[in-house]
Formats: sequence, C-alpha cells, structure tokens
Amino acid sequence: MGLFSSDIKTLDDLFVHTLQDIYYAENQIKKALPDMIEKATNRELTAAFKAHLEETEKQIGRLEQAFQLLGKEPKGTTCPAIDGIIKEADETAGEIEDKAVLDAAIVANAQAVEHYEITRYGTLIAWANMLGRSDCASVLQQNLDEEKATDSKLNSMALKRVNRKAA
Ligand code: FE
Ligand code: FE
Ligand code: FE
Repeated sequence: MGLFSSDIKTLDDLFVHTLQDIYYAENQIKKALPDMIEKATNRELTAAFKAHLEETEKQIGRLEQAFQLLGKEPKGTTCPAIDGIIKEADETAGEIEDKAVLDAAIVANAQAVEHYEITRYGTLIAWANMLGRSDCASVLQQNLDEEKATDSKLNSMALKRVNRKAA
C-alpha cells in the first residue's frame, strides 16, 4: 500500500486495517514463542511462555470472532513493527552465550512484544467504542487483559529473579 493509495479512507477502514495488523502480529508471535521457550533456561519463564502460547492461540480465535462480527474474512496485513521486534530479539539472543544473561534478554524482548500488543489493543478498543462496536471492543478487551497480565508477570519475574541472576 502506497502513501497516497487511499486504501484507508475512514476510521472504519483504519480500524479494520489495524485489526489485520494485530492479526498478523499475533500469528507471528505464535510462531516465535516456541523458539523463546526453547532458548529460555529459567523454568518459571518457560512455563510463562508456554501458558502465553496457549493464550495467543485463543487470542487469534477472538480476533477471528471480531472479524466475523464485522462481516469480514479474517486476514492479516504485514506488520513491520512486530517483524522488527522479533528480528531484533533473534539477533540479540544469537549473540549471548551466558544462559542467565540470555534469560534477561528474552524477558526484555518478550516485554517489547507485549507492549506492542498493548498499544494496538488499547487503540482498537477505543476506536471500536467510538464506532459503536462495543461487541468488538469486549472481545478485544479480553486479549488486552491477557497481554497486560503477561507483561506484569514477566516484569515481576525479571525484578525478583532473572535480572539478579544475570547480574
Ligand atoms: Fe497476543
Ligand atoms: Fe503494526
Ligand atoms: Fe502477548
């Protein structure tokens, strides 16, 4: 899509575009999580990632539900932001030999992913409500709640154990 191609004319269009963006992102995250589970050493961390992989699969289902509510086919649109966050995470992880330092990096990178999701869901919910689609908003709210809970779980793991071990 070019700068002036005017594929996005209205807030409705922008809403659907952003829904496609997060749908693509969730699918990329689903693909990336098994690798993070494999690379992480801390058991609490691998357990958290496994739980979030299951949640991510459910989140993808909820997004499909949101598309359905709008009478649209679920479809993704490339999100260069999530691709970049995942690429950067892979590159950094590839340069770290120490397991404890690697765990600290993995938590930080996972939090970057959660924060991207949180900003997208926050915006989508606000737009859904503005557009009179509280049905979509409440489906998306469930995903947002899970992303926030995951972020705070990762945060407390980092502060209580992972960072200390790395230091
Ligand atoms: Fe997610
Ligand atoms: Fe994006
Ligand atoms: Fe997430």
